[in-house]
Amino acid sequence: MVCEFKCEFKENYELKNHTSFKIGGCAKRAFFPSNIEEFAQLLTELENPIVLGNCSNVLISSQGIDGDVILTSKMNSFEVVNNTITAQCGVKVPMLSREAENRGLSGFEFMIGFPGSVGGAVYMNASAHSQSVSDTFKHCRAFDTETNKIVELNKEDMQFGYRKSVLQEDRYILLEAKCELLPSAKEEITSIMQRNLSFRKDRQPSLSTPNAGSIFRNPPNDSAGRLLEKAGVKGLKIGGAQVWLGHANFIINVENATSTDVSQLMNKMYNEVKDKYTIKLEPEVKFVGIKSKEEDELWDTMLNKK
Ligand SMILES: Cc1cc2nc3c(=O)[nH]c(=O)nc-3n(C[C@H](O)[C@H](O)[C@H](O)COP(=O)(O)OP(=O)(O)OC[C@H]3O[C@@H](n4cnc5c(N)ncnc54)[C@H](O)[C@@H]3O)c2cc1C
Repeated sequence: MVCEFKCEFKENYELKNHTSFKIGGCAKRAFFPSNIEEFAQLLTELENPIVLGNCSNVLISSQGIDGDVILTSKMNSFEVVNNTITAQCGVKVPMLSREAENRGLSGFEFMIGFPGSVGGAVYMNASAHSQSVSDTFKHCRAFDTETNKIVELNKEDMQFGYRKSVLQEDRYILLEAKCELLPSAKEEITSIMQRNLSFRKDRQPSLSTPNAGSIFRNPPNDSAGRLLEKAGVKGLKIGGAQVWLGHANFIINVENATSTDVSQLMNKMYNEVKDKYTIKLEPEVKFVGIKSKEEDELWDTMLNKK
């Protein structure tokens, strides 16, 4: 369907199959901009739309989203000039990682292992294997929702930290990012990427087992996985959601799990670590959409709002 925005959109759009968790109800409307002009028009004219990339770091409510969603999957063009890569927010990062490899550019080897988009990766300052988005990030074009203008942000403006960027303050929406990589021997890059992929094989579930990556952030100087394992949560199951037996910081959707199953299981994991170690783990996965009263309470506890 084409709307007055000249951009494809769908009504009552089921999001479940967009997510790596395979959980989520419908959005009232889902928009699919395919260029920056369409995206900026939507951001100007829609009321508080939720922007989603590849939905690999979100828990979407089984009750759905009471509003508009913008999915960036069609914002997927990129350009390579010498050692810089400029990519629109919807480009999938494993693809970018392969592109950099083919051109003998180092800096994106870590991105081969997770199913994010450029927008989600910058939002999270995604990182792995001692590399992070902020290492190569130069600047970006973003939409400023306070002024309704497209602005340029430099690395200094981005306030990057561990799983942190200024995008999390909800003022800016990433349109495209420019990164500067280092020329390097292709064989060397390939071997790092292979090493990264085989490291993940035993330590995280594959995408054929629906999951959303690490559930909790690492607390300072410790590992959420280590604490959760010691707290004995591996294998715990609520409804269709289960803590993965291979690593205690992953929840897998084993049998039509709902957002409530996952929220309850997360809360159980959170409480086990809090009770045993007086450490309050912080969720890395973000809840999106309508919260039931129970979900509201569970998330308020985990986000330390009460
Ligand atoms: C198997 C698996 C392994 C993983 N391993 C890692 C890992 O090693 N390291 C790591 O850091 N992460 C990892 N993740 C988590 C996730 O893949 C990354 O954080 C990824 O970068 C998220 O991108 P996304 O497009 O899926 O974001 P989404 O889940 O779609 O969105 C995440 C957040 O970003 C926001 N967002 C998305 N696009 C934009 C935009 N254009 N502008 C502003 N905000 C935006 C959304 O609103 C949301 O709040 C893993 C996930 C899985 C499933």
